[in-house]
Amino acid sequence: MSAVMSTYGRYDLAFEKGEGAYLCASDGRRYLDFAAGIAVCSLGHGHPHLVKTLQDQAARLWHVSNLYNIPDQIRLADRLAAASFADKVFFCSTGLEAMEGAIKLCRRYHYANGAPERWRCVTVEGSFHGRSLATISAAKNPKHLEGFGPETDGFDQVAFGNLNELRAAIGPQTAAIIFEPVQGEGGVRPADLDYLRSLRTIADEFGVLLLLDEIQCGNGRTGKFFAHEWAGIAPDVAAIAKGIGGGFPLGAFMATEEAAKGMVPGTHGSTFGGNPLAVAVGNAVLDVLLEDGFLDNVDRTARALWDRLQDLVGRYPAVFESVRGAGLMLGLKCVIPAGDMVVALQKEGLLTVPAGDNVVRLLPPLNIDASHIDEALGILDKVAGSWEADDG
Ligand SMILES: *Cc1c(COP(=O)(O)O)cnc(C)c1O
Repeated sequence: MSAVMSTYGRYDLAFEKGEGAYLCASDGRRYLDFAAGIAVCSLGHGHPHLVKTLQDQAARLWHVSNLYNIPDQIRLADRLAAASFADKVFFCSTGLEAMEGAIKLCRRYHYANGAPERWRCVTVEGSFHGRSLATISAAKNPKHLEGFGPETDGFDQVAFGNLNELRAAIGPQTAAIIFEPVQGEGGVRPADLDYLRSLRTIADEFGVLLLLDEIQCGNGRTGKFFAHEWAGIAPDVAAIAKGIGGGFPLGAFMATEEAAKGMVPGTHGSTFGGNPLAVAVGNAVLDVLLEDGFLDNVDRTARALWDRLQDLVGRYPAVFESVRGAGLMLGLKCVIPAGDMVVALQKEGLLTVPAGDNVVRLLPPLNIDASHIDEALGILDKVAGSWEADDG
């Protein structure tokens, strides 16, 4: 038994090397990686530009703290702002920190407006926002809350897609609506675009902020830099992490100048957030994501994968129920247990991720090509085919 705390049920697999969309295991087997470290390795493994950037930065300077200016941090913030709705960016290292900071920002906004009683947030069922005491209380997944004492107060939850319930939940104490545009852990559930637009309208109507958790669905995963861009709306606040570091721990919350007005010196901090190593890699990831045509290519690749998965699901109705998701954040809702499917795919050399609602998540690197899609579909076909054969 190892000394690692047993909070994860792990697969019996360990990897030694990564190359693009592939991982090599310690037993020498090669796997096609459609897990990508849970949507983190957005450019695959060992991307030459990221490797060189990290090596050069490691030789120069690792860490100085936020007591000093960090020129690459300023550059990354400026670039993120230029590529989005936001004017202000705060860097941290993980997703939950980005959400915690974003929630604090929403409360401070109303405090700065002379309405400190507005501190509650309305959240949506099925979401995931991280594993801190506040973020498990925001998402209210009973499995994540069990045994951790009373919930952190301040979060009122409504059903996914129900606008009447949402309106009714907003009161004189509400500071913000929090929403994950494509629910990842919850089972790859995309919001329809009209629902997203309604969230914007309702936030405006009640004078509350709209905070979007784009930690998994942002960073180019849906074929636009942010998933909310598909709806033609802008939030007041957004949280990102996962893919923005390409595998280096990096997160951020970003806001309009107006929404960020309460975040004055002394209100928030992070020792590691935006350190020189992290922001060097973040800038390198942006070099690629924002390259002309990169996101259009993600969109094209995603549509090709979608069509092939639809065809697959049509041919194996006893195994798969449907395809859902957006861009390269796709889910196969299963008839058979999704966890068993993940293991069966692993045995054939394809890595995927289980999600809620009996879904197998496909989160490939954003720079895969047609050959990777062919290979993945070949494995899915083989596994589903043998399942149906066993069954009938
Ligand atoms: C992964 C994730 C988080 C939490 O990120 P951590 O880095 O694990 O803290 C929060 N929200 C969403 C939507 C996520 O997918």
